Amino acid sequence: MTENEEKKLCAEALIISGVKPEKCMKCGKCSGACPSYDEMEYHPHQFVDMVSKGQIKKLMESASIYKCLSCFVCVERCPRNVMPANIIEAVRALQERPQGTDRLTPDEVKNILDDDTPQQLLMAAFRKYSR
Ligand code: SF4
Ligand code: SF4
Repeated sequence: MTENEEKKLCAEALIISGVKPEKCMKCGKCSGACPSYDEMEYHPHQFVDMVSKGQIKKLMESASIYKCLSCFVCVERCPRNVMPANIIEAVRALQERPQGTDRLTPDEVKNILDDDTPQQLLMAAFRKYSR
């Protein structure tokens, strides 16, 4: 990915998410409250900061985009209404979209499930990735 392509993707992530990174005062409250903090290589405040600096490649390639629970605690805790979860969602969408919606067939899904997988997760995944 060239520097220009990376900048374009960052601009797209900001449009998709509606996030205005200039509002962030780097207080870290979002990351401090995140229940997935220990699981994430990059934390909510870093997503905001890195995308604003044109650095999205590392975020797209990181498992952090799948560790976010979409619980929106970071959004609730942010005193500046920056909405870090929205930018994480946008980065994940930019990573997933080029793969298309049919990369996983219903028949393949059963092979990656285990007894602890909640049905709610499956419904959420189908809603999220079949748009
Ligand atoms: S939405 Fe994601 S990043 Fe935000 S607090 Fe929840 S798990 Fe952490
Ligand atoms: S809580 Fe809001 S203002 Fe503070 S670092 Fe996170 S995004 Fe920025």
